[in-house]
Amino acid sequence: MQVKPYLRQFPDETGHFGRFGGADVPPEIARQCERIAEAYLTIGNSYDFVSQLREIRRHFQGRPTPVYYAKRLTDKIGGGRIYLKREDLNHTGAHKLNHCMGEALLASYLGKKKLIAETGAGQHGVALATAAAYFGMDCEIHMGTVDIAKQHPNVVRMEILGAKVVPVTRGQATLKEAVDSAFEAWVADPENSLYAIGSVVGPHPFPMMVRDFQSVVGFEAKEQFQQMMGVLPDNIVACVGGGSNAAGIFAPFVEDPCTLYAVEPLGRGAEPGDNAASLAYGHEGDIHGFHTMVLTDDDGEPSAVYSIASGLDYPGVGPEHAYLFDTGRLTPAGADDRQAVHAFYALSRLEGIIPALESAHAVAYAMELAQQKPHESILVNLSGRGDKDVDFVYDNYPPQQWA
Ligand SMILES: *Cc1c(COP(=O)(O)O)cnc(C)c1O
Repeated sequence: MQVKPYLRQFPDETGHFGRFGGADVPPEIARQCERIAEAYLTIGNSYDFVSQLREIRRHFQGRPTPVYYAKRLTDKIGGGRIYLKREDLNHTGAHKLNHCMGEALLASYLGKKKLIAETGAGQHGVALATAAAYFGMDCEIHMGTVDIAKQHPNVVRMEILGAKVVPVTRGQATLKEAVDSAFEAWVADPENSLYAIGSVVGPHPFPMMVRDFQSVVGFEAKEQFQQMMGVLPDNIVACVGGGSNAAGIFAPFVEDPCTLYAVEPLGRGAEPGDNAASLAYGHEGDIHGFHTMVLTDDDGEPSAVYSIASGLDYPGVGPEHAYLFDTGRLTPAGADDRQAVHAFYALSRLEGIIPALESAHAVAYAMELAQQKPHESILVNLSGRGDKDVDFVYDNYPPQQWA
């Protein structure tokens, strides 16, 4: 009997990872999702598409990004060896461009003229606006007015890159409403536009497509680590918002003897609304058209969530992570705000690398793990750089008190 490798086996044809995932959306959206799935599975595997994407990664994004041994951080802790996959060195300073370039390339094959998406903190909007500029496409980013006020620098970047930022005023005027608004805009003009989601979330085929595009991170790291050390890493650590950077580095290692740690933001504590740890505190449920682990309020609706890192405050998690968690393949882990800030300063001072606050959660957990497993190696996905966070950290956690 021929056994398919994990990445071909999951998700199944209906977009399920075990009982998680799927596409529970209105009929019109379901039709469009099916068309994208079909297009992705044919075009996305073609020679032309794959070689063009490889060219883009090499010459535009600056890939491969290095794997770096963080010797001074390791020596300071005196435990397990910490290695960093440097996604902070990817063009635009984070991993998000990996799937945005893939989604935009697919859109160009399909003859689309416009990319549509929502954004919360603005990071996905900036990455997609970059991809749209590269391909000469229009770009429409839906964003809650509350977020527009908070994330001014990213709004400016999107506009400079030529994108149109559409303010969303309904409801709480944040990410959830922006998702609805972006979906509506796409379904109103599906012939000319493509919806490009920001993480391994949403209805099938988005979690699969984004995981596949992000898996370049893990495939590179696997080869690089083996070239450096002759073996595989013992542990792999990544922060989890929706879960795209984690899915990307985990995917090629799922069938290997490596422990996979998904680091969720523990925020200010365990009370509802004080964190965004969907695996640790959530329940099985539905959000944005798919079945997964969700943080819900008393009415069963996705609840308000919090993290110091705005890229991590999503009340759900990608369906593949829910599945890997449910089957015991993935180990849930966490870091709170304070640990993330400590790691932010530790990496800055000891290695000369200012990490994104999101990525600092993964570094914080790796520092803890290094003490628990003094003879093992730990590969961290450093998902992004911290330029966007320096003012906030400097003002709220001044270096005189924290470093
Ligand atoms: C958006 C973002 C994240 C969280 O998103 P995932 O889909 O969970 O990876 C993590 N790190 C950085 C730098 C981000 O911009």
